[in-house]
Amino acid sequence: MSIAVAGRRVVPAVALSLVLPLVACAPSGSAGAVGVLEMLNASIADMDRDRFDEALDQSIPQSTRDMWWSNLAQLSEVDFAGTVDGWRVDWSLPGEQAAATHVVNLDIGCAGTSCRITRIEPVPSRPAPGWLVEPVDVTTVDGAVLIAGRGAIDVTAAAATATAAVDDSGMALLDTDSRAPMPVEVPATDSAYALVTGAPAAETRGLGALTRRTGDAVRVVVNPAHAEQWSPAQQAMLLTHEAVHWRLAGHGTPTGGNTWVSEGLAEWLALSRNADERASSQTRAVQACRDSGGAPALPADEDFRATDDADALRGAYALSWAAVSELVAESGPGAAGDLVELLWTTPAGQVDQVPDVLTRWCASNAP
Ligand SMILES: [Zn+2]
Repeated sequence: MSIAVAGRRVVPAVALSLVLPLVACAPSGSAGAVGVLEMLNASIADMDRDRFDEALDQSIPQSTRDMWWSNLAQLSEVDFAGTVDGWRVDWSLPGEQAAATHVVNLDIGCAGTSCRITRIEPVPSRPAPGWLVEPVDVTTVDGAVLIAGRGAIDVTAAAATATAAVDDSGMALLDTDSRAPMPVEVPATDSAYALVTGAPAAETRGLGALTRRTGDAVRVVVNPAHAEQWSPAQQAMLLTHEAVHWRLAGHGTPTGGNTWVSEGLAEWLALSRNADERASSQTRAVQACRDSGGAPALPADEDFRATDDADALRGAYALSWAAVSELVAESGPGAAGDLVELLWTTPAGQVDQVPDVLTRWCASNAP
């Protein structure tokens, strides 16, 4: 399945104005090119629509300018800049303490020293800013800030529930003192999701949501595919899972072989609030106990990449949940959190109570 970029792109290709003999500028930039970017940045900071329009060439359709203005005016900070690597935009959501950085295709045309922006578009196969690909609404709720495409599923309540769950987990590991809101991006369509993630569909289509770093910002991105069918409880479960990843993003990814620690912790908290989903994971894990004579192996890292095999993927999550649940049952959430933190950097085989953790879970739950 390829990403249908061309047919759904919101920003049309722009013909250079025939009125002015414009000359294109490289990102390293002439003084005029730098000046027009400064004008653009200042117009957004000052909420000055007239100057914003002055920075843009008239060949950019009115509907596109209107959308950009409506979107950008809702953001906290926006900074366009030319670098040796190309045009870059840093932007953050209200309350967000780090900025996302995106590379964009941007053209500036100059007539003498008078320069205007003639094009801003996503770079193919690179993550695109959500505000560049569709009309968005930015909403702040308790614990979260959301940027959602017009018509996207409403996950504001689920996002608030998710961050409350992380704050109330009883696990010091998850309590980072930071009260910065969790940033959540909710593209309205499959094509907007593909542009925002910038990843091949094969890597992302099987995911309900993902948490990723873009520049300095760590954000959750919700996959709109099937999202309409989720119940409020499923939304809350999904976002609670991602909220755990978001809160621990500063730790980086777990050491090789220990992806199950990260996924298991996220599932442990997410399923603690959803009896139906917990029962479903329990059933899968019990089956794995039976299939393995009571001693299933901890899921391998590659088991979490099998996004085409939904059944195998659910099995890997279920066993990760069982492993972390067993650690919490045995040691309590505080000590289990310490163990999880240790496992982030230490192979499971080197931590005493870990290699047989699923054998113990099976003994208690699938005798
Ligand atoms: Zn996960």
